[in-house]
Amino acid sequence: MLRALRLAGDVVRQALKYAIDLAQPGTPVLEICERVEKLIRGSGAKPAFPVNVGVNEVAAHYTAKRNDVLMVPRVGVVKIDVGVQRDGYIVDAAVTVALGSPFEGLVRAAREALRVALEAARPGVKAWQIGMAIERAAKRFGFRPVYNLTGHRIERYTIHAGDVVPNYPDTSASQALKPGDIYAIEPFVTNGEGFVTERGEITIYRLTQTRRKEFRRLIDIVRAEAGPLPFSPRWFPQIDDADIAAAHRAGVLHGYEVLVERSGGFVAQFEETVYVDEDSVILLADTLELL
Ligand code: MN
Ligand code: MN
Repeated sequence: MLRALRLAGDVVRQALKYAIDLAQPGTPVLEICERVEKLIRGSGAKPAFPVNVGVNEVAAHYTAKRNDVLMVPRVGVVKIDVGVQRDGYIVDAAVTVALGSPFEGLVRAAREALRVALEAARPGVKAWQIGMAIERAAKRFGFRPVYNLTGHRIERYTIHAGDVVPNYPDTSASQALKPGDIYAIEPFVTNGEGFVTERGEITIYRLTQTRRKEFRRLIDIVRAEAGPLPFSPRWFPQIDDADIAAAHRAGVLHGYEVLVERSGGFVAQFEETVYVDEDSVILLADTLELL
């Protein structure tokens, strides 16, 4: 397991490094997603989900649509969130690139929040205690964490395995990190109110039912490539958007809503996946070394 995780982590790191170079003003978001996914597939691994590119107030769950015309802005923030799976073992990591000096502080705050979170992460520590470190770091820089987004425990072929790592000391996250666990720790920091809401758009889906005869063709195609993990319609030129929409309405596909900061605040995010060892945690993507 650890071997597969380390391999996935190496690919995530290379993918993020490449994405950081690509994230220049005027670059099409579609180009970033496609090129980075190509790098992942070329490394003998697979995307664990479509490459997410979140511009400014878009916090999560946005990947380029087919023929997307969105570009990296001249000023703002761009989050790049990459997941790679090797034999079902998933590493999930993200960085934020500041475009223009007004947002360097916000990005620095999110990076610092991940740094202190990883410092707090060790076997026996409770997830809410990591959240306490995250909120403190965000506030020290004059910002807020995003209260309704969390990090998460990962299991084989399952990105969100139930247990969460909050971005504030939410004591309902009472579970302790224990040896053998895999966690994605991902502070989100904003200059807005600190809450995300749905924008009313879906760019990422996941297969949830596999026994529906009317959707057999779509199910077979999606399952062969993505299994139960999230995918982008971009990956399947042979399936048109009307069929995706029908499968979504019928409950065959789950859709992930694009999440935006509700007050329009800009959002920065850094994420690392850790393997909890006997007396420390192993960093799988080494995100903090990238920026
Ligand atoms: Mn992620
Ligand atoms: Mn994650």
